[in-house]
Amino acid sequence: MTATASSVVTGLEPTTFWAHFDALTHIARPSRDEEPAIDHVHRWAGEHGFDVAQDEGRNVVIRVPATAGRESAPTVVLQGHLDMVCERDPASPNDPAAGRIELVLDGDWLTANGTTLGADDGVAIAAMMALVEDESMPHGPLELLMTVAEEVGLEGANALDPALVSGSILINLDSEEDGKLTVGCAGSTDTWVRIDQPREATSEDHETFTVTAGGGLGGHSGMNIALGRANAVKILGRALRETYADVPFRLVSLDGGKSRNAIPRDAVAVCSVAPDRADAFRKAVEQANSTIRDAFVKTDDGAAISVADAPAAADAWTEEATATLLDAIALVPTGPLALSPDFDDLVETSTSLGEATTEGGTLTLHSLSRSSNDSALPEVVATLDAAARLAGGELEVKVNYGGWRPNLDSPALAAGKKVYERLFGEPPIVTAVHAGLESAVISDKVAHTLDMLSFGPQIEFPHSPDERVSVPTVERFWKLLVALVDELSVQGGR
Ligand SMILES: [Zn+2]
Repeated sequence: MTATASSVVTGLEPTTFWAHFDALTHIARPSRDEEPAIDHVHRWAGEHGFDVAQDEGRNVVIRVPATAGRESAPTVVLQGHLDMVCERDPASPNDPAAGRIELVLDGDWLTANGTTLGADDGVAIAAMMALVEDESMPHGPLELLMTVAEEVGLEGANALDPALVSGSILINLDSEEDGKLTVGCAGSTDTWVRIDQPREATSEDHETFTVTAGGGLGGHSGMNIALGRANAVKILGRALRETYADVPFRLVSLDGGKSRNAIPRDAVAVCSVAPDRADAFRKAVEQANSTIRDAFVKTDDGAAISVADAPAAADAWTEEATATLLDAIALVPTGPLALSPDFDDLVETSTSLGEATTEGGTLTLHSLSRSSNDSALPEVVATLDAAARLAGGELEVKVNYGGWRPNLDSPALAAGKKVYERLFGEPPIVTAVHAGLESAVISDKVAHTLDMLSFGPQIEFPHSPDERVSVPTVERFWKLLVALVDELSVQGGR
């Protein structure tokens, strides 16, 4: 601990928690490179005489015996991830990837100077360590499960050896909204529609244009899927289809989207057009643009289509192939497909076309489909498969992990609600997220049923140098955690 850093957290409650949190700011823990953090928790566990196990994926579990009188309670797994996103302003002297995070207290918020803070998910690791160090806080047998590489597609959880987890209750400490108990999340499946269609040389006198979709808001492909934001690949496909209906042309390429996890903000197509149709082509694209802008005027008013001259292309798909490919883009669904039966305004099932790529004669459309209802996703995949086959292509499917379907009768939830109300005098908001959480992956891995709950303090702008955590909500998070492990060990022990 450096003097400056520790002075920032000095006086903050709970003291032990903040000391552990502060220590983590001096330890490099980028995803896939967590060794210094793993050594740190290993050493700490050794000092306290706790058993440590690690799997080949480098996930760590620390086994903590029950406090006196709670030995017969069910084993509770406390879970969080060791890694953090290491972003920094280019000019900053600080660098989380080198273990240099400079804490700044700004009113009720703790942030970092010029870098990510690592409250996501340092609060989980610090809370686990502080909790079990204090022998005055009763708990049953605990398994402190610290995963790695969460921020790069839940890699650590995906590689989890189920032998690490024997507990029947799992408390995930990687939620970022104060006052909420999360009891569900979406599973996900990746698909690739691959359509190979014939190409021929272009005529020398043909004109070449780029048609570009851009200016939309984008956003998370799960959390933001029901906000009516324009998907650049979809609106580009629509503009081209509407244009083609008036002015047939040949598609040279169509590419867009940067990540399966984001709603595409940019997409571009290259088109080869007969010289006597060039003016009509431009006009038709502009017409399509005005219809599309109108469609999104209330939800994404920056989204637009533009057309520009481009260098000549050597070859292109045939007119017939172009029509087929544009039909396929129309058929690949994107957006919410079903709402949660348990919670208002929550999407249960969705699919998002995330990336389009042209390689030779093949157009590939990569989607990420999500649901907390595992039985809903096969129908979405069947739709994508039908789109692929109708266009003469095929579908590749990769099931990532199942969803965590809300169980409103969960004993862990009942205990969480009871303790929350007792502490704070009002009920918590019980909810689920339309995104992935490690708990879903973990429960998929272990053979026994896990009763699960997730919560955390208020963390804003995670993964960016603006990341900050609300100090008063950390104290609330801490009180809830302490009281919940106590409650769960009393219930089980009786
Ligand atoms: Zn996290």
